[in-house]
Parts: sequence; C-alpha cells; structure tokens
Amino acid sequence: MGTEHPNLEARTVAHLLWDSRQFSTAKDTAFFALRGKNHDGHRYLEALYQKGVRIFVVEEIPEAAFADALFLKVADSIEALQELGKAIRKDFKGELIGLTGSNGKTITKEWLWRLLDGPQKAFRNPKSYNSQIGVPLSLWEMEEDVEIAILEAGISQPGEMTKLAAILKPKWGIFTNIGSAHGENFPNTEAKIAEKFKLFAEAEHLVYPADDRLLAAELPKLAANSPLKLQPWSYHKGQASTWINVLDQRTDAVDLEIHYSAETYLFHLPFGDAASLENVLNALVLALTMGVPYLHLQEQVQLLAPVEMRLEMKRGREQSVLINDAYNSDLESLRLALHFLEAHGRDRSKVLVLSDLLQISLQGASLYAKVVDIIGRFQLEKIIAIGPQLKQFGLAELPVDHYPDTESFLAAIAHYSWRDKAILLKGSRPFQFERIDRRLSLKRHQTVLEVYLDRLVHNLNFYRSRLRSGQKLMVMVKAFAYGSGSEEVARVLQFHGVDYLAVAYADEGVALRKAGVDMPIMVLNTESEALLEMLEYELEPEVYSLMRLREVAELANSEQRKLKIHLKLETGMNRLGFEAEQLEDLIGILKSNPLLELSSIFSHLAASDDPEESEFTKAQIQTFQKMAGQIEAAFDYPILKHLANTGAIEDYPEAYFDMVRLGIGLYGVAAHPEEQAQLRQVSELKATVSQVKKVPKGQTVGYGRTWTADRDTRIAVVSIGYADGFPRSLSNGRGQVMIGTKLYPVVGRVCMDMIMVDLGDDLIKEGEEVLIFGESYPIQNMASAMNTIAYEVLTGISSRVKRVYYMA
Ligand SMILES: *Cc1c(COP(=O)(O)O)cnc(C)c1O
Repeated sequence: MGTEHPNLEARTVAHLLWDSRQFSTAKDTAFFALRGKNHDGHRYLEALYQKGVRIFVVEEIPEAAFADALFLKVADSIEALQELGKAIRKDFKGELIGLTGSNGKTITKEWLWRLLDGPQKAFRNPKSYNSQIGVPLSLWEMEEDVEIAILEAGISQPGEMTKLAAILKPKWGIFTNIGSAHGENFPNTEAKIAEKFKLFAEAEHLVYPADDRLLAAELPKLAANSPLKLQPWSYHKGQASTWINVLDQRTDAVDLEIHYSAETYLFHLPFGDAASLENVLNALVLALTMGVPYLHLQEQVQLLAPVEMRLEMKRGREQSVLINDAYNSDLESLRLALHFLEAHGRDRSKVLVLSDLLQISLQGASLYAKVVDIIGRFQLEKIIAIGPQLKQFGLAELPVDHYPDTESFLAAIAHYSWRDKAILLKGSRPFQFERIDRRLSLKRHQTVLEVYLDRLVHNLNFYRSRLRSGQKLMVMVKAFAYGSGSEEVARVLQFHGVDYLAVAYADEGVALRKAGVDMPIMVLNTESEALLEMLEYELEPEVYSLMRLREVAELANSEQRKLKIHLKLETGMNRLGFEAEQLEDLIGILKSNPLLELSSIFSHLAASDDPEESEFTKAQIQTFQKMAGQIEAAFDYPILKHLANTGAIEDYPEAYFDMVRLGIGLYGVAAHPEEQAQLRQVSELKATVSQVKKVPKGQTVGYGRTWTADRDTRIAVVSIGYADGFPRSLSNGRGQVMIGTKLYPVVGRVCMDMIMVDLGDDLIKEGEEVLIFGESYPIQNMASAMNTIAYEVLTGISSRVKRVYYMA
C-alpha cells in the first residue's frame, strides 16, 4: 500500500498542536484543526504549512494543494483527539486517579503528586489542563513508565463529564468540594454535583470532605446501587468514616490525627489556613486509602509548600520587563512561560534565568535533553543557568552563562546590562529566585494594582460566547485599558484573536503600535494635529462631523494614501455623531474622495444598562439600522456596523450587527446581576499597613480633627491616599477597606498619601496587606460609597500605583 500511496509512509508524531499560537516546532508535529463556537483551526492550515508542519488532522481537506503534507480527515477533530486519549488510557496499566470539584483541584492534584511520587513514578496533568481538550493532551504527555497518573477534570456545561469519564475511567477519585464557581451553566448546585459525579461512574473509591453539606447530602444518593466505596472525612467525630482530630492549630502549622480504619496517624502540617487543610486532607486520605506507607507520607507532607501557581509580570530596572514564574518546575510550565515571554517581550531581547529542575521523576541527561529541545525553539539572547545539573548535562549549544548557585549569580548581577530586556525567571524553590526578583525589580511602592490576566481572558470568553459565528469583537482599551494597563492588556487581546481595539486618543494608539500591537485600532477622539501621525501608524480615526470628514479627505489626498475611517452616527446620545439630515452630504463627500475607505459605521447607546430605558434603547437600535442602511446602500463594498457596548451585549442581541464593542465587562464589571455572577474581578488594589497606634478616648485623628475616638482604640495608617485614587469623599466612615477577612472604616479625612482606619481591638500588624477592592471586596462597593460608577474608580487609579500582572 505504501508504494501506491506515497503519503502513507510511516510518520512519527512527537508533538500535538491544537492552538496555532502555541507553535514552537514543525518537526514531528501533528496539528489538530479544532472547531469551536468562535474559532476554526482550519483557518491556520496554510500558515502552519508555511512554517513546516506536515501532518494535519482535519474535518475538511483544504482545496489548495499542500505538497508532501499528510491530511487525516475525521468527522470531529475534538472527538478524534479524545479517541486518541482513550487509546492511551486503554494501554495504561497503572493506577489512575481522577479529581473534580469546584475549588482547589489544581493544588490538591499538585500535592497528591508530591505525596505519591517517589516509591512509584507518578504523573499529573500539567497546569490546569483539565478540559475536553486538555485531558486527552495530558494523557499524550504522559511518559511510558508512569505507574500512577493523577488527572483533574473540569467542566462548565452539562454533558461534558460523560466524555471525560469515558476517557479517564479513574479507579480512585477525589471530589474536592462544591461551591458556586463562576460560569457554570447548571440550574442548581445539586445538578452540578450530579454532573461532576459522572467522572466516577466506574471508580472504586471516592474521597470527599463530609463537612461540605451538599456533598454529604448528594454523594451517598448518587453512589447508591453502585460498587463505589465512599471515603468521606470530617472534623466531627462520628460524622464520617474518617475523623480528623485537630490537636493544635496555629496560623502557620497544624498538628492533627487522622483516624482512618481503626488506625490513628499523626501529622504535622506546615500551614494552618482552612483551604490548604481541606486540600491536603483530601490528598492524605486518598493516599492512605491507596495504602501508601505512613512514614513516606509523614516525610513528604513536610515538603508541601503553598504552591504559588501563577506567573507575575512587572516593569523591572532599566526599563526591563520582568516575568517571574514561580510555578512548579516542570517541562510544560517552562514551555508555557517561554511562550509568555515571547508574547510580552516582543521586540526586546530576551533573557532566561533558569535553575536546575528539581523534584521531577525524569532526571539527568534525558531530562536536560528535553529542556534543551524546548529552549532551543525560542529566540533568546542569553540564558543564565544556575545549578550543577545544568552545567553537567546541557545547554552546550546555546548562549549560556553558568553559575553554581544563586549566590554567585547575585554577586555577578551588576555586570549585566538589563536595559530594555525581557527577563524570565524560572527557578525551583530551593534556588530562592525571589532574591533575584528583588534585585531586578523596581523599588516596591507599597500600593499596587494587581491585574489578573487569566481572569480577563475568562471574561473575554464569557462575552465572546454570546456572539454568533462571524460576528466580530472590538475591545475598548481607552484610558489605559480602564486603568489596567493598555499594552499588557492589548497584547493578551491580540493573542486571543480579538478583531479590533479602540483607544480614546492617537497617543494611546501610537504607544500600542510601539509595543508591538499590530491589529486594527480605532481612535475615538481625533484631533486635527494628530491626523498625520495616525496615518503613519495605521490608526483608524472616528469621524463624526462634515468638517472632520473634509479634513481627513484633504489629508488622504495630499499624502496620496488610503485612509480607513469609522463613521459615528447620532442616534440619541446627543454627543458626537452625524445627524440624519447630514447623510446625503456625507455620502457625496465620500464618493468624491475614493481614498477614504469606510471601515465601519457605528453609534453609541445611552442607557443599555438600564432596563427602564429599554424603549429608548430599542428606538436607538432602529434609528441606527435605518441611518447605517442608507449609507451602506450607497457603496458596493462591505462595511461593518456596530452598536453594542457591554450593557447591550448582555441584554440586546438585536444590537450586535457585525461587531460588538466590549468595555467595562472585560474588566469584570457587568451591567446586570446575572452576568455579574459569571465574571471575575480582573484587578485588585492593595496597600499596606504602615503603622498601628493606640488612640485613647477623646483624641482626634487626621486633618481638621473631624473624627474623635469615642473609646480607646487602635488606628492603622494605610499607604493609600487621594493622590493614588482613593478619593477624599471616602473620609470619615464613607469608605471601608479589608484587612484579613474583615472590613474597617476610614476615620478622619483621607490625606494625599495615607488613610487611617479604625481597628477597634483587633490585633493587626504593621506590614499587613490591605485590600481596597478585589474579589473579596468588589469595586462596586467602593464606587457606591463614592456615589459613582466602577468606571470612574478604575480609571482614577493614578499612574504612580504600580501595575503588576499575573497569569494563573
Ligand atoms: C467606552 C465605549 C464603549 C464601551 O462601553 P462599556 O459600557 O464600557 O462597555 C463602547 N463604545 C464607545 C463608543 C465607547 O466610548
């Protein structure tokens, strides 16, 4: 057969690629062209072929000829990937553990892996690869000699778990807990539990916390009539088969006994918070169920550290960008971090500071061969390799400086220039890369805005899932991306395939271009002086008057260059925009200036967030349709029409037209409560306690002596003031801040750089973190205390507040 079909000679596949943006090598790579609601991998076949990829799994064979390429046609590419996962699972003879639940899956998985790896070789899925696509890909990543596989399964829709269960067929299970997690499409929590439980259809043992009341009520019902043995644990004696007796609990450590099946095991755990305890107890009870020796567990729990599962990006010394990935040192996280460096480092020269990879089953020469393979796919100016193993095993071909330990690198650090570099720090825990981080960071101002890019992507996908196929998405990154930082946000949006960006002023657009953002950008406020610059940087102006239109026409003609413009129509806001009676003149001017090209026609809704104004909004939609239709009919090329902002994306599908303009929702503030429940707060504003003092009854606090203590109390001085964006209107009890899990009122007047809050008798220490707003204290609370909206709070955070970016 091989002779008749030259394409069917044996080919090796070493890498699976499903996301064209994650391309790193063509050699032995097979690309799965996946189709989703808003995505079609078939669009990238040509580009990947150009890069050298030759093996494709597709639902449709392209018409163009791809010489020498092998196409495998399947009915459904995701199913094909899942079938591959099933086949790998079928061949796997070891023990398979499945985890699901609402919170703590990833960390429980990580800890369980540390408890089990050693006597037997254990594997866990990388990061949180727990989806319909992530699960089969994880199995693909598994080495052949693995004896215990730990895989988490995450779902967001009914029906998904059955598919994951059919792939994984776990024998052992953990149901971590159940909560009202975001974005889940279930009528109630019971239904969510029932769906997740399907993972354990063929399992033999299932561990869960019995103090989670809903799990305790539902799981026994679901497991009735099945051979599954439930292994609940509880802090209350007699409530579950396993009893946890807490002997001593401090903030950073706990001593406890696990009473498991007639035995008592004593453990000392290196943390004290409730969430970590739940995670580690789920893992320990399962390990005991599996018969892991107590002594081994006792030793391993000591090594568990609250894993910082995130990647941090901030501005560093000498205009550098500093990326610190404190995630575990496994190969997949190294690869993902290098991709992040590539996306955010753009034109900068890139430096990787890497330590020996520890705590990993794979070791020595074979491990470092893989490290070299991964690093070799990225363009790096320099690699700083820290540790004896990197010296012994590898990196020979690469531009590398070796140091035996972190200390010796720190001694040499001043000899390097870090100017304009993008630096990735990737160190195993014992190498203490936080010391390098401190040396390369800008001096830490005590007040920071933490921006969580993974939550931003979550919100993006939430709104995107509302669009019908073919409808485009513009994102508003005006006003420094609503205060979050336009360059960093824009790069993420570009990476995630957003169609258009919009900024308020030409300057903002130029800054994005300089930061390597090359997607289309619309500029809302076009000043005459900036028009030429806009042409140079391919920024597309909004045009809202005949005067402005004549101006851009003149510019296009004198430069003899095509200029793309966006027409803004007046439909009821009574701000900028063409009136109905101007349309004829408008069309006339456009017709006689063929260098002007209409990219789009749009208008803005005045009250899309207010259900009481829905008649008005509907009238605006109709007016827009009519006016835009009149212009469209005069031209024979397609012109995008768009109208919907966040409020309308949530509430008026009839306003979507060809594109929507997402603003505040991306940053985690919805217009309506149902949507709010599905979003994540993207930024958290944090300050610190600078000092705590005792204030006796009768004394006053702050300027103007506006607050008097009515009892002996303690006051915390907090490092934020009106110059940071904490307004003076929040003085004297109007504003509150959160320390730990409790809210404290502002007392006295807000100063320029400080506020004072009343602690009562609570023992709060200097240096403690103070949350101004964030997931545990939503920004809307601060906004309503200020008598304003979240938009103003976000955009009012001053530029001296440092922005730090995180990616889970
Ligand atoms: C700011 C803005 C938006 C986004 O509004 P949100 O309410 O934040 O979604 C959309 N369109 C225009 C023209 C804007 O100026």
